[in-house]
This record gives sequence, C-alpha cells and structure tokens, in this order.
Amino acid sequence: MPDIPPSARFRTFLILGAPGSGKGTQGKVLGSIPRFHHLACGDVFRSLDTRTLLGQKFVEYSSRGELVPDDVTVQLWNANVKQRVDSHMFKPEIDFLVLDGIPRNVEQARFMEPHIEVLKVFHLSCPDRTELARRLRKRALKDNRFDDANETVIQNRFATYEAETKPILDYYAGDRIVDIDASQPPAKVLYDILAGVMTLDAWKEQEKMKI
Ligand code: ADP
Repeated sequence: MPDIPPSARFRTFLILGAPGSGKGTQGKVLGSIPRFHHLACGDVFRSLDTRTLLGQKFVEYSSRGELVPDDVTVQLWNANVKQRVDSHMFKPEIDFLVLDGIPRNVEQARFMEPHIEVLKVFHLSCPDRTELARRLRKRALKDNRFDDANETVIQNRFATYEAETKPILDYYAGDRIVDIDASQPPAKVLYDILAGVMTLDAWKEQEKMKI
C-alpha cells in the first residue's frame, strides 16, 4: 500500500494479549460501534482457501502454534485493508481502526509504521496461563479451532507470545500502553478500553463531528 502517504496513516488502536486473553471478543464488540472498524488478522488467515499456497502456509504454521512469516502476513494485511477501504467498509477519514492479532512482533510493527498511527495499545494482561488455556479449550470445541485443541500447540502459542509478541510493548512504550486485567468479565474489560479511548484528543475531536 505504498500509495498512502504517511500523513494519511490510519488512526489505530491495537489490542494485544496472549491467546485466550479476549482480543477477538473485545475487537468484535468495539467493531460493532459506529466509527470503529475491527480487523482480526487471525480471521483474515482463517478465511483463506486452504487449497491456495497462502492458505496452506497458514495451516502449516498455525497448527504448530507458530507465527506465519512476516512478509506474507504484512502483504496479506495490506491487501485486506486496501480492499476494505476500496469497498468503503472501512472509512479511514472517519473510522478508527481496531487491530487484533497484528502486529504480532516488532518486525511487523516496523513494517506497519508508515500505515498506522497507533493511538493506544490495549494490553489484555492475564498472567494466569491455566485460565487462558481453559478458555482456549472451550473455544476449540465451540469454534472448531484446530490450533486450540492440542495441549502442546497451546503451550507453544504461549511461548511464541512471550518471545515474539510481548516485546511489542517495549516498542510502543510510554503512555500509549494501557494495561487491562483480562481476567475481569468482558463488560468490565470493554469499559476499561473505552475509558482509555475517551482520554484521547483524537476521540474528543471525533465527538464534535456530526457524521
Ligand atoms: P488468538 O486470538 O488465539 O491469539 P489468532 O486468531 O489471532 O489467535 O491467530 C491464530 C494463528 O494465526 C496464530 O497462532 C498464527 O499462526 C496466525 N497469525 C495470526 N496473526 C498473525 C500475524 N500477525 N503474524 C503471524 N501469524 C499470525
């Protein structure tokens, strides 16, 4: 997406957290509020036809609990977000972008820097891995998530999160990071996220607009 100048970077909120921390749940609810557009990288991957090379790559890496390589991931993200802009699903002039599952390491954060203006990073924190694993096993049954069904894969996904994704918090260090206790009920987590959004000047400006 090199045709988008840096001045037109998408106003973005990141939802960051270990697998099972509730990123998707919060992203979906936020995305249902007018002027918030939710994009979950995992959903984009899961929507790929598994007969395609990219679809097969996704299955290969995710079934081991590993990240799909950065170059294909960022390319796929660029293409997907462009589609959403072109079809007016996502209107960058008036919508905030809510990203969940991307960037998932510092390299991806660097690649995305020219395209996103990160306003806040909502870190859904839950040190209790037993609770997260319980949520994942529940999801495996409900949503048919093959990467949540196997104990070794679950543990590997936690390890990948610690080693590759958590350093993103240092990359965006400062008052952009909002730590939220992810073991709270979903409604309270949402309340904390919205409280963080509403402290922003960008939000206050948006509030004044009649759209
Ligand atoms: P969760 O919500 O449980 O953290 P996701 O649905 O976001 O899981 O992702 C499922 C899998 O898809 C990941 O384990 C990984 O293999 C792949 N994936 C998703 N997003 C990315 C990304 N940004 N970079 C690389 N791989 C990704």
